[in-house]
Amino acid sequence: MLVSICGTPGVGKTTAASMLAGQGWDIIQEKDLISDLSLFEEIDTENDEMIVDPDILRDGFRCWAEKLNSDAILEGHLSYLAPADLVLLMRLDPREIKERLLKRDYHEDKINDNVEAEALGYILIRCCEGEEKALGEKEWKEIGKGQALIVERDVTGMSPEIISRWFLEMIGAFRDKKLKMISLYRPGKVDWLEAYAEWF
Ligand code: ADP
Ligand code: MG
Repeated sequence: MLVSICGTPGVGKTTAASMLAGQGWDIIQEKDLISDLSLFEEIDTENDEMIVDPDILRDGFRCWAEKLNSDAILEGHLSYLAPADLVLLMRLDPREIKERLLKRDYHEDKINDNVEAEALGYILIRCCEGEEKALGEKEWKEIGKGQALIVERDVTGMSPEIISRWFLEMIGAFRDKKLKMISLYRPGKVDWLEAYAEWF
C-alpha cells in the first residue's frame, strides 16, 4: 500500500509523518526521492531548489512505486503525482501557513503564492484530478474499491501526534473499507474561500 501525505508547504507534513517512523512504515520524503532518482530538471542554485516537471515526476514515481515491496508513505506537496492508494491531504488556516513560512525565510512572493494556493484549495484540486483519472468513470461510485482515495482534514490547532493518529485511523479505515469513517473526511469539507475574502 502506498500512502501520500500531501498539502501546501508549511502544513506540517514532514513533522506529522515523522511521528510514524518506527511503526512499520517506510516514510519517504518526496525531495529525497526526486533527488535520489534524479527526477529534477535542474537545480536552482540561487534558491537551493530543484526545478521539476510534473509529467516527469508522475512517470518517475510510477516506476518507483511498481518496484515497492512493502507499505510506504510518500510525503511532500507533489506526492499526489504518485500512484498512491490513499491520499491524506492536510489543510491549514492560510494565516498559519503564512506565519510558518515567514519563519522559513521564504521570499515574500513564494509565501504569498503558497498562502493563496492553500486558500484556494489548489492541491486539493490537483489531487482530485488524479483521483478521477485513477478511479475511472466506471468505478467512480465505488469509493473504497478503487485507488487513490482522497481524504482531507483541517489540522489547524492539532498537534503532530494527533495528526499522525488521524493518518493511522484513515489508513485502517481504508484497509477495512470503513466507508462511514472515510466519508467524514471526503474532500469538500474544508473551505477557506469566504474567510479568505475577508482577510485579504
Ligand atoms: P511541511 O513538511 O508540510 O512543509 P513541516 O512539517 O516542515 O511542514 O512544518 C512546518 C513548520 O511548522 C515547522 O516549523 C514545524 O515545526 C511547524 N509545525 C509542523 N507541524 C506543526 C503542528 N502540528 N503544530 C504546530 N506547528 C507545527
Ligand atoms: Mg516537508
